[in-house]
Amino acid sequence: MNYPFTSEDFKSEPYWWDRTERSETGDNSLPTRTDVLVIGSGYTGLHCALLTASAGRQTTVIDAEAAGWGCSTRNGGQISGEIKPGYDELSRRYGNAGAYALVKEARNALDWLGEYVAEQDIDCDYRQCGRFTGAHSPRQFRKLVASTRQQPPGLEQDLRVVTARDQAGEIDSEYYYGGLVNDRHCSLDPLKYHSGLLKLALKSGSQVISYCEATRVEKTSDGFKVSTNRGAIHARDLVVATNGYTGSVTPWQRRRIIPIGSYMLATEPMDLLRANQLMPGQRVFGDTRKVVVYFRRSPDGRSLLFGGRVSVFESDPVKSLPALRREMLRIFPQLEDVKISHTWMGFVGYTFDRLPHMGKQDGAYYAMGYCGSGICLASYMGNRLGLQLLGKAEGNCAFSDPAFHTRSLYSGKPWLLGASVRYFQLRDRLS
Ligand SMILES: Cc1cc2nc3c(=O)[nH]c(=O)nc-3n(C[C@H](O)[C@H](O)[C@H](O)COP(=O)(O)OP(=O)(O)OC[C@H]3O[C@@H](n4cnc5c(N)ncnc54)[C@H](O)[C@@H]3O)c2cc1C
Repeated sequence: MNYPFTSEDFKSEPYWWDRTERSETGDNSLPTRTDVLVIGSGYTGLHCALLTASAGRQTTVIDAEAAGWGCSTRNGGQISGEIKPGYDELSRRYGNAGAYALVKEARNALDWLGEYVAEQDIDCDYRQCGRFTGAHSPRQFRKLVASTRQQPPGLEQDLRVVTARDQAGEIDSEYYYGGLVNDRHCSLDPLKYHSGLLKLALKSGSQVISYCEATRVEKTSDGFKVSTNRGAIHARDLVVATNGYTGSVTPWQRRRIIPIGSYMLATEPMDLLRANQLMPGQRVFGDTRKVVVYFRRSPDGRSLLFGGRVSVFESDPVKSLPALRREMLRIFPQLEDVKISHTWMGFVGYTFDRLPHMGKQDGAYYAMGYCGSGICLASYMGNRLGLQLLGKAEGNCAFSDPAFHTRSLYSGKPWLLGASVRYFQLRDRLS
């Protein structure tokens, strides 16, 4: 389906997939036995596999689709190292020390990722670009200003207030009433990052098998038997790294993950002068609305990559494209004449407490529930999970502590989501 506003070469797949060819995964035959079996080949699964294979454990990673097909090659490439609940909310739940540990660990994950990409020399357009968070109302602007003065002890960050009068230096939009800049936040090309990890995982000796779906997990006397569409495999250790795509094969995790569709579009390339005027820097952008939008320029600076949660039940990004484009035009009405070249979507893994979780359930390791901040959290927690599996103390992680709860009657289908998204949309409009 094409629209008057889509380009001639319009594609309903991620912009990133057009930019970089996927790496080969090599030998694709499923062994009958392995030391460590990882289900899911995104950032979580690969980071975990890298560690276990490097430590000499025979490691097999399987994915129901092409390696990296999930969120890890279709995200917006914005890296924050922040978790969704704020310090005050976390303090009420876990006390000051618990809140501090969680916020600090997420921030450490951001530093860790930057160091990892540099050390491993992964070519993925990693950039410490900073983030501009726009206030969608004067009240929200006052809240942003207050947040710079009320930072918890030991967790202070350099945050710079930008008034509406000065914001043209950040963004050419009258939609916002000023905003806040956090210079620590970063960006990358998610597929290039994933390809770099895939190469490292293969080099470490991991086997990565695409189009191999786990269909049944059974416990055995010495580990697990996992049935797949390509035969059965026995594993001493099992790692569940399926995040927003967690299915019925791991029902305990499925009951704890709320898959929420996130939709993106890319504009066709603009001339650089125009793109520079729109967003003079290369920052990543978000705003204060509860129903989030996020956007940035592509690494070559010419396209706008715009994402948001525009549809609740629709999972066809082409059908949701007009609504997503309307959101973009609310912020940038001057882009009415710019054609859309790509649209796509993926399922973000949310949790009921809006925190990521990792641990061991029925003998199987898992890390998931990054609530849309998975580039650094999935990478970091995949790495910590690998360390835990190897019995190393460095694998200790604050996100292992909070209990991973579900809700009664929830089986993995978010039937209440529609009502809650509409509630938050209404609140955004009222505020
Ligand atoms: C549109 C969009 C934009 C986003 N933007 C950002 C962003 O800007 N910044 C950020 O930090 N995060 C963002 N995210 C979230 C981020 O991409 C994810 O949190 C992260 O990639 C999760 O990585 P993962 O390895 O845990 O899961 P995934 O990369 O989703 O991998 C899970 C894999 O498990 C496989 N799988 C599932 N079930 C089975 C089975 N039974 N057998 C075999 N394989 C199976 C799936 O095929 C999938 O490939 C975004 C997500 C989306 C969808």
